[in-house]
Amino acid sequence: MERRHRVVVVGAGFGGLAVVRSLADAPVDVVLVDGNNFHTFQPLLYQVATAGLDADDIAYPVRGIASKRGGSADVRLGHVVDIDLEGRRVVFDEGPALEYDQLVLAAGAVTATYGIPGVEEHAFGLKTLTDALALRAHVLRQFERVSVDGSQLETGALTVVIGGGGPTGVELAGGLMELFDKVLSKDFPTLDIRRARVVLVEPSDRLLGAFSPRLSETARRTLATRGVEVVLRVGVAGTDGKVVELTDGRRIPTGTVVWTAGVRASPLAACLAAQLGADALTQGGRVVVEADLSVPSHPEVFVIGDLAGATDPHGQLLPQVAPVAMQAGAHVAQMIRGSLEGRPTAAFRYRDKGSMATIGRHAAVAQLPGGIRLSGTPGWLAWLGLHLLMLVGFRNRVNVVVNWAWSYLTYDRASRLIVDPADKPDEHPHIPG
Ligand SMILES: Cc1cc2nc3c(=O)[nH]c(=O)nc-3n(C[C@H](O)[C@H](O)[C@H](O)COP(=O)(O)OP(=O)(O)OC[C@H]3O[C@@H](n4cnc5c(N)ncnc54)[C@H](O)[C@@H]3O)c2cc1C
Repeated sequence: MERRHRVVVVGAGFGGLAVVRSLADAPVDVVLVDGNNFHTFQPLLYQVATAGLDADDIAYPVRGIASKRGGSADVRLGHVVDIDLEGRRVVFDEGPALEYDQLVLAAGAVTATYGIPGVEEHAFGLKTLTDALALRAHVLRQFERVSVDGSQLETGALTVVIGGGGPTGVELAGGLMELFDKVLSKDFPTLDIRRARVVLVEPSDRLLGAFSPRLSETARRTLATRGVEVVLRVGVAGTDGKVVELTDGRRIPTGTVVWTAGVRASPLAACLAAQLGADALTQGGRVVVEADLSVPSHPEVFVIGDLAGATDPHGQLLPQVAPVAMQAGAHVAQMIRGSLEGRPTAAFRYRDKGSMATIGRHAAVAQLPGGIRLSGTPGWLAWLGLHLLMLVGFRNRVNVVVNWAWSYLTYDRASRLIVDPADKPDEHPHIPG
């Protein structure tokens, strides 16, 4: 039997889901491919790492999402290792290849360590649910260790060093400090909680470089007031997991190193470059795309989200954030629908809706269109509302509201379970390449 026109979407992240949603009821077969059987809401990973939320509050089963599309999308659980552009096939590490008529690549990004010695081997990343659970288990276990052997305090067992003062580093630093101060201080009443340090290291001259200098300074001041040690204009030179060496020669004894300082496009970008040539990638390794988000000379292949080197009208690369991926997904779905009717494609235009980062209770910064800047409680409420709206699944929203309300009222964190049996980065390097 002849098969229908098939659109394969690789990646069930923000971009891939937007494509599938926007293709519901289109006269095509859609196959959504992901290496995990769930979608991860990455903006709240830091809350899983700091025991505020549990893993399944911020993840949603991919098959559940596909079945809600009235059976219009199929799912393939599998790790894509290559794209055969000439043969129009997606190749997996296991099982048969999948043929496509049109392909959307939305495989996102992975952590970039820039070759800094020891970071890949010893630091925790914060890009996946596994990363977040491993970090949570490790931090909680450090407290358990110190509670039976107080001498470990001298070697920095309760010190967390975070490399990278972007939104993820800032949110994680604020969340950890709150966890130590409000929750673990009660769980471990005999420990001197003031010895638990969070050090946030940022090589540039301010935190949150994409925000206005005023909001950056608000974030720095708020973190400092809450006890986070913010180190600016100094980078991480290397680590062996026990000491972090800074570029100014300082050495910080530590029990936990976290790396939030960079991302690079998924390795699938390199698969395309192997077939299309090195100039198929931008300087940062993203896939060069046409204005309509298709791959040059391959109008049947689109690339979106963190993997795409899409630019604004001034030629600047678009930021690797969720709204870019979602808007690009909706745009590409529209292009696919149009192509079925023989219509030409159109250029993608990103509408910037602003940026936000939270620091903790009653503290967040938000930079919105029209020059609107929010901080403190208004910024925090805006952050809470937006993240609830963006979460996938009604049940997840309810869970998150309940957990947030509980934490707000009781200063308790419901999810401080040690569930990862192997929490040492030495045993399980969390950061690829
Ligand atoms: C900790 C953290 C916090 C963030 N906070 C914010 C925020 O507050 N606001 C914001 O706008 N953005 C935030 N971002 C960025 C935002 O999450 C990304 O820009 C967005 O997820 C990109 O969407 P995407 O669809 O391109 O990729 P992703 O959402 O990363 O999805 C990629 C999908 O592809 C799958 N995949 C990857 N490789 C393969 C393969 N080879 N085979 C099969 N499947 C594969 C993955 O499993 C994943 O499901 C944050 C990111 C992180 C890591």
